Amino acid sequence: GLNASGRIQMRRFDTTRESPEAIEEVLKRPSQRSTDRIMGIVQPIIKDVQARGDKALLEYTHKFEKATSLTSPVLKAPFPQSLMQLPPETISAIDISYENIRKFHAAQVDKKPLEVETMPGIICSRFARPIERVGLYVPGGTAVLPSTALMLGVPAMVAGCKKIVIASPPRADGKLTPEIVYVAHKVGAESIVLAGGAQAVAAMAYGTESVTKVDKILGPGNQFVTAAKMLVSNDTTANVSIDMPAGPSEVLVIADSTANPAFVASDLLSQAEHGTDSQVILITIGLDNEGVQAIEDELHNQAMALPRVDLVRGAISHSVTLMTATLDEAMALSNLYAPEHLILQIADALKAREMVTNAGSVFVGDWTPESVGDYSAGVNHSLPTYGYARQYSGVNTGSFVKHITSSHLTAQGLRNVGGAVMQLAKVEELEAHRRAVEIRLEWLDKNQQ
Ligand code: NAD
Repeated sequence: GLNASGRIQMRRFDTTRESPEAIEEVLKRPSQRSTDRIMGIVQPIIKDVQARGDKALLEYTHKFEKATSLTSPVLKAPFPQSLMQLPPETISAIDISYENIRKFHAAQVDKKPLEVETMPGIICSRFARPIERVGLYVPGGTAVLPSTALMLGVPAMVAGCKKIVIASPPRADGKLTPEIVYVAHKVGAESIVLAGGAQAVAAMAYGTESVTKVDKILGPGNQFVTAAKMLVSNDTTANVSIDMPAGPSEVLVIADSTANPAFVASDLLSQAEHGTDSQVILITIGLDNEGVQAIEDELHNQAMALPRVDLVRGAISHSVTLMTATLDEAMALSNLYAPEHLILQIADALKAREMVTNAGSVFVGDWTPESVGDYSAGVNHSLPTYGYARQYSGVNTGSFVKHITSSHLTAQGLRNVGGAVMQLAKVEELEAHRRAVEIRLEWLDKNQQ
């Protein structure tokens, strides 16, 4: 934290001197603000938008975004060119990133159905169909986040979703950031909902006079957004699903003696500048106190030069360095923590990647800062946080499709499997099930087929 000299410094633990329980305790995430309290704020907003539609949606936008001049909550495509006026270098950056993200996510499309003949005459298959209407939440608040619009919009587009709705809170002047309008245009969005928070989530979950009801809502946001997504996905009348629970963003960097201390510090800081609730963890392998000190010196010096130094100070104050002796130990700790982002700045990082069992996205070697994945490499940046990398994948093309299975039997196939079906139906005392097979087998016998 902030010690007497004002130094920006992470807490340091030598894992060889601490008990495994103590280290596990250090790796625990801080608990989120009371969900009950947040749910209590969000629930009435959702009910209100459900009941009063556009009128309620606009009132909340006037209140929370101070965009009192806004008179319509939705902008329908085609979006006017005047709303996407951008400097050529921004256009070019978005275009390059868009193309890399498109290439990587297009390669994830299930091109042909999966077909398996489980027994002679029994064909089981599985094929993908896009989710028809998707709602993409792009956080607003203080930041401009066209990258999040790309990370959600491009996979929706390549998956073939028919209606892409993007929701994002407008600025106080009632306008959207032109970068987001440009991305919406590129991914073929049908509309932009100019609203944020629980009200935007509710509008997309239930639909309003002017907001298209969607089948799935994806995207990061603050605790109000996350709570609203959880509430609407639990309401069967909304019939809507969500991508994943979301918490504050995290990075875990593993560094050994081959790592450049300046590079390591720069990665820790690019996470820390997200906000004071950001989680930053450094695991060193075989570094002595001097080696760790070199990284800490870089961290302090680079941090002092950042415009967001105050946010960085907050994040770093609850960040930790764990000093380990071996790669095995470092990877075990990383897998236990299940970081959203894992950066490997170690000898033979590609080989070490094989040891990763829990992580949202991995950045391999000295030349792969997290920033490239955040924006432009092609991988997605919408990733599981808060330890959910144990069971969730990040957003990908599969997030925008559902898989349908089908079975197709020949008469021979039914003969081959009929006995097993009838026996299990008998065990479960479902007589109609048993007869549906029997009636067909009898017909085959009678007709000598
Ligand atoms: P946001 O769009 O998530 O939330 C803004 C909305 O919060 C407002 O429209 C308002 O409706 C609601 N709100 C604010 N105060 C409220 C209150 N007191 N009561 C009810 N509703 C209230 O924007 P944000 O707040 O700036 O948060 C952005 C979030 O997105 C952060 O948590 C950040 O960590 C996250 N984020 C994630 C990524 C990513 O891609 N993983 C990138 C950037 C930011």
